[in-house]
Amino acid sequence: MKILAITNQKGGVGKTTTCVNLAASLASLDKRVLLIDLDPQGNASTGSGIDKAHLKHSIYHVLIGEKSLKDVVLRSEKGGYDVAPSNRDLAGAEVELVHEIAREMRLKHAIAKLKDFYDFVLLDCPPALNLVTVNALTAANAVMIPMQCEYYALEGLSDLVNTIKKVRAHLNPTLEIEGLLRTLFDHRNMLANQVSSQLISHFGNKVYKTIIPRNIRLAEAPSYGLPVLNYDKNSKGAQAYIELAREIVSQSKQAQENIKKEVNHG
Ligand code: ATP
Ligand code: MG
Repeated sequence: MKILAITNQKGGVGKTTTCVNLAASLASLDKRVLLIDLDPQGNASTGSGIDKAHLKHSIYHVLIGEKSLKDVVLRSEKGGYDVAPSNRDLAGAEVELVHEIAREMRLKHAIAKLKDFYDFVLLDCPPALNLVTVNALTAANAVMIPMQCEYYALEGLSDLVNTIKKVRAHLNPTLEIEGLLRTLFDHRNMLANQVSSQLISHFGNKVYKTIIPRNIRLAEAPSYGLPVLNYDKNSKGAQAYIELAREIVSQSKQAQENIKKEVNHG
């Protein structure tokens, strides 16, 4: 099972759009996917067709230890994946967990119980480096950082990287940054192209090959509670997320083969 935290404390860079559409795209490739909404805004839940206002239980109840993850999971029927939804309740979790022991490990333990049921678990993080994000980074085996190629794109990246380093040192030694994802990309914009080349020269193969273009269909789909694949599967946005899903699947296959080789040689 691959657990991917989709995170960037910068707001509006396409984390939720990526989470929802990657979940649907992986599902269309016959992968078993769980999307965990970790943002009190609940946009990933709504975008998956789930009514966040009338939830009996949510990821909040999992983090405070009242429910197990399987008890809160709902199905995105159209998307073909499972969702652990969220809503404003989650905003209280931070304060309630302050005095709890191992509060950073809550999500990790919750997910561990479901390890035989999913191929991919995608974590939609809030735009903050808070305890919920630390829970995501502690539970994950890889991090995806969506970013817009603009002048300030790299600003704040060092705070995120430092947080990842701290989590690696104290909570999750094998956590890896899998990749930076270029989102909301406009090919005609010269600055975007410059920043994109800079990213490649700094981070090399840590930049996903797939680029997510700015595409109006991606912005429209959530208002129908649909991933873009179900809304307009021929759109540039839908095609880009399918390509990203393929890239990620082939990456994890490659990683597994490398492990096999190491085991055989050792
Ligand atoms: P937050 O930090 O608030 O959680 P986010 O990083 O999750 O934001 P999104 O909610 O995915 O970002 O995207 C922000 C806005 O941009 C949304 O209105 C979304 O519909 C739109 N958007 C995201 N990606 C694209 C895209 N590739 N093309 C067009 N619109 C997009
Ligand atoms: Mg979001």
